[in-house]
Amino acid sequence: MAYFESKRTAGRHYLQIPGPSTVPDRILRAMDNATMDHRGPDFGKFGMQLLEKVKFVFNTKGHVVIYPASGTGAWEAALANTLSAGDRVLMCETGHFAWLWREMAERLGIRPELIRTDWRRGADAPGIEARLREDRSHDIKAVCVVHNETSTGCTSRIADVRAAIDAAGHPALLLVDTISGLASMEYRHDEWGVDVTISGSQKGLMLPPGLSFNAVSAKALRASESAGLPRSYWDWGPMIRSNATGYFPSTPATNLLYGLDTALDMLAEEGLENVFARHDRHAEATRRAVRAWGLEVQCDDPRHYSSVLTAVRLPEGHSANALRAVILEKFNMSLGNGLGQLNDQVFRIGHLGDFGDLELVATLGGVEMGLAAAGVPYKQGGLQAAMAYLAGNA
Ligand SMILES: *Cc1c(COP(=O)(O)O)cnc(C)c1O
Repeated sequence: MAYFESKRTAGRHYLQIPGPSTVPDRILRAMDNATMDHRGPDFGKFGMQLLEKVKFVFNTKGHVVIYPASGTGAWEAALANTLSAGDRVLMCETGHFAWLWREMAERLGIRPELIRTDWRRGADAPGIEARLREDRSHDIKAVCVVHNETSTGCTSRIADVRAAIDAAGHPALLLVDTISGLASMEYRHDEWGVDVTISGSQKGLMLPPGLSFNAVSAKALRASESAGLPRSYWDWGPMIRSNATGYFPSTPATNLLYGLDTALDMLAEEGLENVFARHDRHAEATRRAVRAWGLEVQCDDPRHYSSVLTAVRLPEGHSANALRAVILEKFNMSLGNGLGQLNDQVFRIGHLGDFGDLELVATLGGVEMGLAAAGVPYKQGGLQAAMAYLAGNA
């Protein structure tokens, strides 16, 4: 595919953006099978087992609806199935993705109310509780929270948000975007009383982009019966009816579903607890490297550190985009850019998905060499600090 590269670079490309993550060979091979008849007899069997199997990553016994769409589609599905025009929702502006979700809600005719943050921490659970307590007439129909804010590397504590809603005695639905958190950090749809969980394929699930998910509680399903927003493609009703026999109302992304089946096997073989511990460990090693370089982690509250990515702030007057360009050019590694108000101020290191210790060492080595090459003031020894941590916590 010369189209994509003006010159060939030896060695594999390091795709260290926080999604899409690198797709492992085993998943690529699983997708490299003939597309089958999605109305034929074999598909129903495949679909039935897959729709059952996928539940463990969400920690749910309920329905998981799968769309051929990016995560943004599943955002829209969550809103369109549960809400009506003019409904108030409480959203937490934890960063750029929360901001985009709010814009979507406005375009759909919902009235979002924002609880702001400084983009350096997760959602403010006490703030949510206080706002819900004021809402005695229960005008707020849903609380919308981004679990892992991919623009900042801050995670919202969903169990605390649930507790805040319960403490206020408020009946609002809880809608959670874990597009980049799922299968990398602990997530408990049922136990945390989440009504709609939104996710996507190209981050912790190690798949290419193109699948998105809604895990749906019984309460959300009841809400969908009276929700008034227009919906057609996103309607849960026909999906859940077809899914009962393993089929889909329109053509599913068959080959991505083969990949999903294998990704779920891989996660189960490693064990979700081990997957989470691996991500935690890589995130801690990365933060140690950042501190040793004398740079600052964007997330300011250790309780909200993301294990999926680390956003790193550049010193005043230095360009994160120039640094990323040097690292891409010299070392064939893509890092995430700063989004929205963080443009050019931070770069983001993705350490998610199918990712091992030596790949983290290579990634941090590339960053450290890039800091030198780009003329960013830093102290040597970040990679060393990360390696010492990894070696001591094998
Ligand atoms: C990636 C991401 C999205 C957007 O998903 P797309 O697949 O690009 O549509 C939304 N929210 C979060 C938290 C994300 O990480």
